[in-house]
Amino acid sequence: MKHLTAALLAVLMLSALPGCGASAPAAGSTSAPAGSSPISSAAVSAPEQQPEPEPEPIPEPEPYDILDPTVLPEGGVRDGVTYAAYDGVVEHLFFHPVVAYPELAFDGDYKSDGIDDWMVTAGEYLKILQSVYDKGYVLVDIADCWSEQTDEAGQVRMVKNTLYLPEGKKPLILSYDDVNYYEYMLSNGFTYKLILGEDGKIWSYGLDPAGNEVVSRDLDAVTILDKFVEEHPDFSPFGAKGCLSLTGYEGILGYRTQTDRENWTPEREENRQREIEAVKPIVAELKRTGWTFGSHTWGHISLNSRTTEVVQADMRKWFDEVGSLVGDTTVLFYPFGGRLDGDDVRQTGPAFTWMQQQGFRIFCSVGIDSWSRCKDDISAVICDRLHPDGTTLRSGKSLERYMKFYDARDIIDLSVRPDRGVTWQPKAG
Ligand SMILES: [Zn+2]
Repeated sequence: MKHLTAALLAVLMLSALPGCGASAPAAGSTSAPAGSSPISSAAVSAPEQQPEPEPEPIPEPEPYDILDPTVLPEGGVRDGVTYAAYDGVVEHLFFHPVVAYPELAFDGDYKSDGIDDWMVTAGEYLKILQSVYDKGYVLVDIADCWSEQTDEAGQVRMVKNTLYLPEGKKPLILSYDDVNYYEYMLSNGFTYKLILGEDGKIWSYGLDPAGNEVVSRDLDAVTILDKFVEEHPDFSPFGAKGCLSLTGYEGILGYRTQTDRENWTPEREENRQREIEAVKPIVAELKRTGWTFGSHTWGHISLNSRTTEVVQADMRKWFDEVGSLVGDTTVLFYPFGGRLDGDDVRQTGPAFTWMQQQGFRIFCSVGIDSWSRCKDDISAVICDRLHPDGTTLRSGKSLERYMKFYDARDIIDLSVRPDRGVTWQPKAG
């Protein structure tokens, strides 16, 4: 059994999850799922009573280029690829964390149906990526799709950008809600956190159903997309990945960086500070490799039914505890899709105005298509996102709406999901 490299060990030691019920297994109990990289099986063990090793330097990362899709490459050609102006719809799909272990997620407990409704499995997710890639979509970052301009009347407003894409390609935004690794998810078939591997890349860490620690790049939405783009670089001609939408009440990315606990003690604060230090290099590597961040409020509060005071107090905590770690963002993702002030389409209410004053410009809800509108009374764009998940994969109505991305009948894995029926007809033939 090879031991951890010091770098990875340091990350794991710094970030032991408090109160999650997972105890470090005895050395030797490590295993990795079939098909995962050899690094997995070698990467994790829990040495006891060893002197703190000198940290080994993390290898120099491979360069990663991030390009601006609003600029036509010189001569209209880059790397032998011709670029053309695109002014059509920018499609937008969003995911929740993906199910790593269906047998834990769909075990019939009280969470099963919710996970079935709102999540896809890692396998379904990979099939969706393959399908949108095959259909000619390329990834763009949400913040590149609109920009702020001053119009003739001197008013500052958001406008939709012309994008310059490889000829014949269509733009696709991906966003990911609740990339927090909530406590309830840990025992329900999801990965536990993102970590830096000994290769300097992002890996997921978690426990398999037998309780073995697993470090993998095949079980988490973030690492699966990273790998997919490595294997299909033309899926991301500008280096964009997705926008991670974070709450704050159980920390971020699997690190318990939040303050809000009963019986706060110096020990808890000390642990929080360790978690903060441990997540910083993860955030930095994600940003370096095309991931961006948005706010999902601190407490996952429904913005359509809260007073401006409640919204402000919640968001101040978000800026303190999450914004301080991920940096400024212009993107707000509505929890439950709940629009600010109850309706941000026909009005611009006080809570919306306050959020805009805090720097948000792109306000995302959920809908049946990738609708968007630049508001004419304030510098902001409101938009909807589509949601690949159990509800839409099972639905005959959604089958048609999502056909431009994939045929749900090819995606849904009914062999692992609970028996809750579908409303589409099987494929002919
Ligand atoms: Zn959410």
